[in-house]
Amino acid sequence: AKAAGEGTFARYDPTMHSGLVDRLQLAADLRRALDNKDELELHYQPTIELRSGTIIGFEALVRWRHPVRGMISPADFIPLAESTGLIRPLGQWVLAEASRQCVEWGAYDPDRVLTMAVNVSGRQFDQPDLPAIVAGVLADTGLPAERLCLEMTESVLMTDTEENLAVLLSLKEIGVKLAIDDFGTGYSSLAYLRRFPVDTLKIDRSFVERIGGATPDAALARTIVQLGQSLGMATVAEGIEQYAQFLALRRMGCDLAQGYYFSRPLPAEEAGALLRDPAAL
Ligand code: C2E
Ligand code: CA
Ligand code: CA
Ligand code: CA
Repeated sequence: AKAAGEGTFARYDPTMHSGLVDRLQLAADLRRALDNKDELELHYQPTIELRSGTIIGFEALVRWRHPVRGMISPADFIPLAESTGLIRPLGQWVLAEASRQCVEWGAYDPDRVLTMAVNVSGRQFDQPDLPAIVAGVLADTGLPAERLCLEMTESVLMTDTEENLAVLLSLKEIGVKLAIDDFGTGYSSLAYLRRFPVDTLKIDRSFVERIGGATPDAALARTIVQLGQSLGMATVAEGIEQYAQFLALRRMGCDLAQGYYFSRPLPAEEAGALLRDPAAL
């Protein structure tokens, strides 16, 4: 089942049909999917502590099983959700479902502190009530705030800066963790790291990919880890596929990692099984 869900996305091809009509149809389909939710699900990719090799949490990644088109990649339908405003109900559903799942898994072993990372679109930060929505989800599910990590891209910190800063400060007040996703791929200015209350830097997969070769990537990855260390932020390496990459990042002092080397994103049931039997990792 591991192989079936992933890597088999139907690429959404705008030239396949007359572009606009097709987009409108897909948007209508997404609206319907959000009404009954049975086509939407979350898959969970474990986050591994490099020092110990243990699972410390998961990242929730949304999946859409379209009745006709098959599995559609979030890389294709998230932009559509953003341009139609559907990202708000979608994002709220993801937050609630991922938080509920984290609480359910926490019950397996009360001594184990599991974290749940959720991707939050820049369009969701445009809602001044995002902190209220997050607080509501925490209250409804009983997930302790510090176990929820919201991942955002650098663009959130670079646009509508004052508004977004206010939202991020309210979120910190609630107690959730904040991570910068795809770190290093956005804008070159690092000045925003001084102003924004960020807990975690996620090193983009592109720096991890060629870490062993004769490229500057290893130096860049090391620099991001050191930047995180000197700013008191945790670092997560994304997209580890090989043992050599795992070793290199651990040697650099990177705290956490994700990637196919450990596990692909898994349906909830399989992710839960990994938790109960970590030897399966
Ligand atoms: P992301 O947040 O950077 O997530 C990491 C992506 O890399 C995921 O793709 C994951 O399946 C993939 N990945 C993980 N490990 C490896 C690896 O070792 N090698 C390779 N080649 N890929 C790996 P996915 O699930 O297709 O998601 C794509 C993007 O869609 C995400 O990138 C994120 O930006 C967005 N996305 C996914 N779920 C959500 C969501 O619930 N809300 C929002 N706003 N965006 C989401
Ligand atoms: Ca992410
Ligand atoms: Ca990422
Ligand atoms: Ca990425």
